[in-house]
Amino acid sequence: PGPLMAGKRGLVMGVANDRSIAWGIARVLHGQGAELASVTRAAPLAARAVPLAESIGAKIIEEVDVEDLDSVDRMLGVVRKEWGSLDFVVHALAFSDRTELKGRYCDTTRKNFEHTMVISCFSFTEICKRASDMMNEGGSLLTLTYGGSTRVVPCYNVMGVAKAALEASVKYLASDLGPQGIRVNALSAGPMRTLAGAGISDARTLFHYQQRHAPMRRSPTLDEVGGAALYLLSDLSGAVTGEVHFVDCGYSTTFMPDLGALKA
Ligand code: NAD
Repeated sequence: PGPLMAGKRGLVMGVANDRSIAWGIARVLHGQGAELASVTRAAPLAARAVPLAESIGAKIIEEVDVEDLDSVDRMLGVVRKEWGSLDFVVHALAFSDRTELKGRYCDTTRKNFEHTMVISCFSFTEICKRASDMMNEGGSLLTLTYGGSTRVVPCYNVMGVAKAALEASVKYLASDLGPQGIRVNALSAGPMRTLAGAGISDARTLFHYQQRHAPMRRSPTLDEVGGAALYLLSDLSGAVTGEVHFVDCGYSTTFMPDLGALKA
């Protein structure tokens, strides 16, 4: 068989640098023959993202702030003009005020709650609605989530609540778009050492804890996250929709640290 993404065109949102999950996914998709549009946030983040997008031959490179819906519509207008149709979208972006990614969840401010929800959760719904208008049967939309959505992770706070809402929206979106043959899934990764990951207080400790207690005793690589995204975006997963797919070296399956760690 030829490359899995040959003839497919899609949008990858959220490349900030070469550690970004979006970049790991873009690289793997490109390696499998996909034609990509890369969407990044405005300067200074674009400074690193644009050369990366160019290095994989991205045909369309746009700057978008998902809080500004006009910028999303402008970007999708460019995609429609250049390509006419779209086969997949990767939504790998999130934001919350880092001063609230520490301490207690109940100290979250209303302003940051709204901000976090719009950028990290509702933007996916807005993008799915618009992008699916450009998709034919077989289209696939993917977002990124984390296990702090269903169980408490210290300091993850409002981001955990936003990810819970994001995972619920994946199911509603899958139901809305399923009749058109368009699939919607989430990939639950991590933890990974990225810019967004570093915004969480004590990120290093959380990272090492999860590494130590995951059944595989490590965290996933960018290539492994990219590989799982390839599965969810390609026809290999043609009957899979509304799923939260874990790529976390098994951490989410455990309820308690291993006995060695408990006795230490
Ligand atoms: P990252 O910092 O590399 O990527 C986050 C991206 O979000 C950046 O490209 C940033 O520009 C973009 N972004 C933030 N606000 C935006 C806005 N208003 N408009 C447009 N773009 C905006 O970090 P990452 O870890 O690769 O994050 C990607 C996704 O993966 C996020 O949804 C994150 O929650 C999720 N995730 C991360 C981990 C982890 O451990 N790092 C684990 C599971 C899930």
